[in-house]
Amino acid sequence: MRLLTAALFLVFHAFFAIQSEARPIGKNSTDPKTLTAGPKVDAEHGIKEVVPQEFRARYNKWKAELLSTEFGRDQWAKYESSETFLLKIIVASDKKFGAGTGDFKWDDDGRLVGATITLGKNLDRGFPDPVYYPVMNSLSILIEPAEVKGNILASAKMAHELGHVGQTSEADGRVFQKQESLMTAYYKIFLNNGYNTKDPRLVELAQDLGRAPIEIWEDREYWGEANALRFLVARMNKEYSAICPVLGNIMRNLTIYAPNYEYRFDQIADSALPAGTCRQ
Ligand SMILES: [Zn+2]
Repeated sequence: MRLLTAALFLVFHAFFAIQSEARPIGKNSTDPKTLTAGPKVDAEHGIKEVVPQEFRARYNKWKAELLSTEFGRDQWAKYESSETFLLKIIVASDKKFGAGTGDFKWDDDGRLVGATITLGKNLDRGFPDPVYYPVMNSLSILIEPAEVKGNILASAKMAHELGHVGQTSEADGRVFQKQESLMTAYYKIFLNNGYNTKDPRLVELAQDLGRAPIEIWEDREYWGEANALRFLVARMNKEYSAICPVLGNIMRNLTIYAPNYEYRFDQIADSALPAGTCRQ
């Protein structure tokens, strides 16, 4: 069941990445120049925000929430000031609560030079499932007023996506691209063979990958969640009483669904919070 869920997530994300590339949505979307993604786009660098006017006010609140922390400002500045990397951030009207990162581009030396984060128009609503999103799911218990809670949720989702960009930029581009093509081939067969993981073609693909595709996929998701936790700890660092129930929920989710990853999140909490916080 976990494999099927992961496959559906992956296929959806791959499909959506293709969609968003084919139909750029921007404040100037009626301008023919922005409708044809040509070589000029690749020559750009820094951060390019493609936000339709109708979503601009809410996007600015999500972004302000992210940038209210030094952690968020540092991550933003890193991409904004880059002269070799283009980060596109799109708010899409045909996506609701979710977000995704894709359209990765590498140079000839295998360095990541571009990525696109696509945010749903209702990013400030919808708590993802606890199995793969133990951090964002835990925000459902926040007792802040609805708008504040929504903005924190949306900015945590942005931090999660920035985590994907950061983690992919650290990976070897050639290895990552090979993984992507093998995983795509794997899931295509899996969804058409009655979900039979013992299919010799899948066994061979998994051997080529070195790990089961679901392990690679969930490892990436938990890196995204790790970045969301770094943001949340920074956001709530003046109110330890607020972060403690959230941390408790995160750790409960991890214990139940992803015990192998507890260490990753423990380390972040321990390094960001004074010793003994949340232990009373
Ligand atoms: Zn993710």
